[in-house]
Amino acid sequence: MSEIVDEIRKCQKCSLRGSRLSPVPGEGKIDSMVMLIGEAPGYHEEQQGRPFVGAAGKFLNELLTEAGLSREDVYITNLVKCRPPKNREPKPDEIKACVLLLYREIERISPKVIITLGSHAAAYVLPKFGVKFEGITKIHGKIYEISTSIRKIIVPMLHPASALYNSVYKEALMKDFKSLKFRLKELW
Ligand code: URA
Repeated sequence: MSEIVDEIRKCQKCSLRGSRLSPVPGEGKIDSMVMLIGEAPGYHEEQQGRPFVGAAGKFLNELLTEAGLSREDVYITNLVKCRPPKNREPKPDEIKACVLLLYREIERISPKVIITLGSHAAAYVLPKFGVKFEGITKIHGKIYEISTSIRKIIVPMLHPASALYNSVYKEALMKDFKSLKFRLKELW
């Protein structure tokens, strides 16, 4: 993992190298059963060099509790490791430059459960495991069983930041994480 983190810290592969303060690597339990994948760091994440420490991160902690999990149990990373200027969405060339590092992180952590947060992470993780991405509003909360050498599930969730401005998304996220709790029990 330290090799991957070194590469992230030194990365010059896309134009975000010019605007970023510094890249934000993933953090958490290296042998965790559960891996969460967000979109890209925001202002607070870039300042602190840690993923999901701002308002969306605080809500994510509540969602983890709904699922019977805590930050100590999981590994959290982002699809894109550098903050896009003014928190805009990452561009396709920035994602393409970064996604191979994410795929290596997934291989290294080898989680049983991958939770993607928001549409971009789902769009790049589901197809990697042979699942067509059909739009996050349609598939959020759905559990995809993936056939690999170990039993694995992928659960695409709405992005926790979307709940900060929209109570419908907030309720949907609470419901999806709560139902995940029961599926996780079956999987352990
Ligand atoms: N949103 C993300 O997608 N990732 C973070 O780390 C913070 C906010």
